[in-house]
Amino acid sequence: MNANIMMEKVRKSGFKLTPQRMAIFEFLDGRTDHPSAEVIYAGIRKKHPAISFATVYNTVQALKESGAVLELTIDNERRHYDPNTTPHHHVICTKCGKIGDVFKDFGLETMLPEGVGDMYKVSSAHVNFYGVCRDCQ
Ligand code: ZN
Ligand code: MN
Repeated sequence: MNANIMMEKVRKSGFKLTPQRMAIFEFLDGRTDHPSAEVIYAGIRKKHPAISFATVYNTVQALKESGAVLELTIDNERRHYDPNTTPHHHVICTKCGKIGDVFKDFGLETMLPEGVGDMYKVSSAHVNFYGVCRDCQ
């Protein structure tokens, strides 16, 4: 999701847009490396040295709540953020923790084990693949 659409989404949710917050939208714009709040903070500080971690964290939470970014909870240590909100899956390197995108529609009907569909009205599925990335092999 690009910075303008992100801005529009959070604006609608009543979140005040400040230059620091806009810098966070721009930082996330088009990224595919799923940065954590810590990585976003480190990146933003280069241009906005006065920004606090709390501002970064609160802005990212507002983006998440307005649906402008996805929060990935596949890492036990920290949450990662994804500006690509279209449904997709992920592949995680078990050595360096790098998170890549997997764009494939596996089809809910084929993924769903027998019986689960009787108990739940299932609306989505997210698959995590684990392995060792090329850099770590
Ligand atoms: Zn790796
Ligand atoms: Mn992703």
